[in-house]
Amino acid sequence: MSAAAPLRPLPLPDEVTAPFWEGCRRGELRMQRCAACARFRFHPRPMCPHCLSLDSEWVRMSGEGTLFSFVICHPPVLPAFQAQVPFVVALVELAEDPGLRMVGGVLDTPPDRLRIGQSVRVAFEEIADGVVLPQWRLAP
Ligand code: ZN
Repeated sequence: MSAAAPLRPLPLPDEVTAPFWEGCRRGELRMQRCAACARFRFHPRPMCPHCLSLDSEWVRMSGEGTLFSFVICHPPVLPAFQAQVPFVVALVELAEDPGLRMVGGVLDTPPDRLRIGQSVRVAFEEIADGVVLPQWRLAP
C-alpha cells in the first residue's frame, strides 16, 4: 500500500488578494495599482509602499513579460514537490513596468532551453479544484 501524495501548499485568498486570485480563475492576470500614484503593487497589499495611499484599483495586464532570472530546483524539496523535480522557478518582469516582477513556474519547456531575457506569456494552471496559479510559457 502506497502513501497518499503530500498536499501541495495552496494560496489562501483574503480580502486584499481575492481579486488577484479571482482573475487567475478567469484567465486574467490582474494587478493592484495605486489610485493615488499609479504604481503597481505586487504582492497585493492594503497600503502603497511608495506613497502610503490606501486607495487602489485592479488592472488587467497583458500577460506578457521577460524572463528576468530563474533557478532549477533539484532535491531536496518539500515532499509535495518531489515528483516534479527538476522544475523551474522563474522571476518574470512584466511588460507594463520594468520594476514589476512575479515568481512562477515555466511550463512545457526543458530547463536547459531557458535563457534570461526570453519573452514569456502568462499561462494559467489549475492545481486544485478552483485554485488557479499564474505560470509562464515561452512566447511563440
Ligand atoms: Zn501610491
